[in-house]
Amino acid sequence: MFPIRAKVKKAQSENSKVSLLTLDISLPDAKPGQFVMAWLPDAGDEKPMSIAEIKPSLQLAIARAGPCSTKMADLAVGEELYVRGPFGKPYGPEGKKWLMVGGGYGFAPLRFMARLGIEAGAQVESINGARSKDLLMKAAPGVNHVTTDDGSAGLRGTVLTALEPLLKEKKFDCVYCCGPEKMMKAVALACQKSGVRSQLSVERYMKCGFGVCGHCAMGGWLSCIDGPTIDGEAALANPEFGAFHSDKAGRKIKY
Ligand SMILES: Cc1cc2nc3c(=O)[nH]c(=O)nc-3n(C[C@H](O)[C@H](O)[C@H](O)COP(=O)(O)OP(=O)(O)OC[C@H]3O[C@@H](n4cnc5c(N)ncnc54)[C@H](O)[C@@H]3O)c2cc1C
Repeated sequence: MFPIRAKVKKAQSENSKVSLLTLDISLPDAKPGQFVMAWLPDAGDEKPMSIAEIKPSLQLAIARAGPCSTKMADLAVGEELYVRGPFGKPYGPEGKKWLMVGGGYGFAPLRFMARLGIEAGAQVESINGARSKDLLMKAAPGVNHVTTDDGSAGLRGTVLTALEPLLKEKKFDCVYCCGPEKMMKAVALACQKSGVRSQLSVERYMKCGFGVCGHCAMGGWLSCIDGPTIDGEAALANPEFGAFHSDKAGRKIKY
């Protein structure tokens, strides 16, 4: 529950917008789908960040979305930030044939999940989607399919362009998805149509991270403790999924 001070051991560029920070602390029990609350004392409040890896130590893939995340992503080796966690529900292993579907920085926790799956003997394929080549995340272990909206790398189109034929050709036990909510909704609907299970990771404005403040409420759930990993069917049945999120003050905003 208390912030731990962590030093940046390695700072790598994933793409033109995202940095992969390797910190000098380990969270050996953390699982893919869980997150930490990251804090830079001179940059504002804490921000939720998915756990991108735990080996060799904690990694966070941080996109420059606004002032605070930009300062975090720009941290250099030797500089410090504070983390609390891990929090939230992780992805759960289902069967032995997995498909990862990630958009933007959402691909980072899926790479962690892919590694664990392969080590446990699962067959893992991944769809790595971005708007353009310069925004693509690095590949995951296993078979990778790439899509870009503008066609600058891989298939031209959204992740659906690769997903729909794969769902027809192969029988996956579970599709694991993380990315923009509209994309996740489309993926969950495609999986529902094909009779394939899906697990998604929802993002809501989070403050405490452990179910006390209620800020991340989403149609009867607290996203930080009932999620962020959510069963695809349950998400589709939630009226706020893909429809509304909330801002810093808790005001509802249409997607
Ligand atoms: C469970 C979870 C996991 C996440 N994992 C990652 C990750 O691995 N990498 C990554 O780059 N980003 C991740 N995010 C998003 C990240 O927290 C926000 O992009 C970041 O907080 C932006 O902060 P800012 O001050 O730089 O930008 P702002 O200009 O304040 O906001 C930019 C956007 O980020 C959202 N945001 C701002 N503060 C929060 C907050 N406290 N909680 C949720 N959303 C917020 C805003 O709604 C807005 O859409 C995750 C969010 C959640 C909920």
